[in-house]
Amino acid sequence: MLSDDLFKRASRLFPGGVNSPVRFYEPYPTYFSRASGSRIFDVEGKEYLDFCMGFGVNFAGYSNTTIAEEIMYLLDNTIPEGVPTENEIELGEIIQKAVPSIEKMRFTNSGTEATMHAIRLARAFTGRKLILKMNAGFHGAHDYVLVSAGSGALNFGTPSSPGIPEEVAKTVLVGDFNNEESIRELFKLHGKDIAAVITEPVLGNLGVIGPEKGFLKFLREITEEYGALLIFDEVITGFRFRYGAYQDIIGVKPDLTTMGKIIGGGMPVGLFGGRADIMNRISPEGNVYQSGTFSANPFTVASGLATLNFLKDKDYEYTISLATWVEEKLKSFSDLGVQVNRVYNMFTIFFNEERVWNYETALKSDRKKFMKFFNFSKKHGIYFSPGQFEASFVGMAHTPEEVEMAVFKMVYTLEFDMNE
Ligand code: PMP
Repeated sequence: MLSDDLFKRASRLFPGGVNSPVRFYEPYPTYFSRASGSRIFDVEGKEYLDFCMGFGVNFAGYSNTTIAEEIMYLLDNTIPEGVPTENEIELGEIIQKAVPSIEKMRFTNSGTEATMHAIRLARAFTGRKLILKMNAGFHGAHDYVLVSAGSGALNFGTPSSPGIPEEVAKTVLVGDFNNEESIRELFKLHGKDIAAVITEPVLGNLGVIGPEKGFLKFLREITEEYGALLIFDEVITGFRFRYGAYQDIIGVKPDLTTMGKIIGGGMPVGLFGGRADIMNRISPEGNVYQSGTFSANPFTVASGLATLNFLKDKDYEYTISLATWVEEKLKSFSDLGVQVNRVYNMFTIFFNEERVWNYETALKSDRKKFMKFFNFSKKHGIYFSPGQFEASFVGMAHTPEEVEMAVFKMVYTLEFDMNE
C-alpha cells in the first residue's frame, strides 16, 4: 500500500486527509504503520530515525517491553471506566512528589482540556475575565487559547481561527515571550482584570525558544504584584528534562501547571494542578465544573504509571548530551545557514540568518526551506516534526550511533541537497 493511495482514501474521510492539521504536508503525508525504539516504519516498510516522537509523547521509546509488560500487569484484571481506582492515586502521588507545586490535580484526556480547565479555574478563583498568553504560545485548540496561537496554527498562517466568538477572543491579551516590556504594558492597562498569565516556560510551538535570563521570574513577580495567577503549560516540558517539571530547574513556582504527553506514556492524557486552595474550587469540593468520562481511564493511568516507573531511575543527562552533540556538530559548520536552538534535549533547526529568541525573529525563518530540509531528511531516513515552528526531541531510545549518523546526513542535506 502506498501513501498516496491512502491519502486519497483518507481525504474522503478526514479534512485534509488527516486527524490533526500538523500531520499534513505537501503533497501528501507519509502514512505509518509501526514503531519500535527510536524508529518509525512507513506503510512501504521504509524505516526512519524519529525526532518527532509523537510530538514529544514517546520519550521512553516506542514498544518499550518493560513498559508494555507493566501495562499488561496493571491491566491484568480489567478495570472499569468511570470509577475511582487505586492506580490513579499512585500516578497522582508520583506526580505530586516530583512536582512540589502540584499540591492537588485533576487528570484530563488531553493538554487541550487541561489548559481549558486551568483557565476556567483561574477565572473563577480570581473573579476576573482576562487571560494573558504569549504570541504564538500554543496551549491546545480550544477557544480561550486559539488566539495568536503557534504550532500548526502558525504554520498554516491562521494565528486565530474563524468560529471563535469575538467576545471570547477579546478576553485574551497577547504579549511577547522574552519581552518584559510588552507584558508590563498589558498589566499597566488591564492589570486588575487579568486572571492569569499562561505560558509554556520553554516555547516549543514557535520552534524551541528558551526563556531569556530572568523572564520567567519577572512573570512570577508581576502576576503576584497584580494578584493574577501564573500558569505554566508544561505539556511538553513535564518529565522531559528531569524527573519532574522545568519550573524546578528554573526555580519559579507557578500557581497552576498543566501537563500531558509523557505522563500518559502514549495514551491520551492531560493534567492540571497546583495550589490546593485554588484546586479545591473544583467540583464537587467547589463549584467550578470539570469532568470527563475518560479522565484517569485505566489504560492511560496504567501506561502513565508504567512510563514514570520506567523513567524513575533513568539518566536524563544521556538524552541531553545527545541533543547537545547534535547542536554542537551542526554549529561547527558555520556556513549551513541555520540556527540551532536547543533547550536540554529538545531542539529546532531554524532556517534563519539571525539568532532566534522571540516571536519577531522566529517569524523571519524560511518555512519553505525548512520543508525542503524536512523532505530531504525524510528521504535519508530521518523524520522531523513536519513544520518550522515545531520541536524535535531526543529520547531515551535514541542511540549515539544513530544520532551520529543522522547528524552526518543533516549536514550533507544542508550542504548539498538543499543547494541542488
Ligand atoms: N500545550 C502545549 C504546550 C502543547 O504543546 C500542546 C500540544 N502539542 C497542548 C497544550 C495541547 O495538547 P493536546 O494536543 O494533548 O490537546
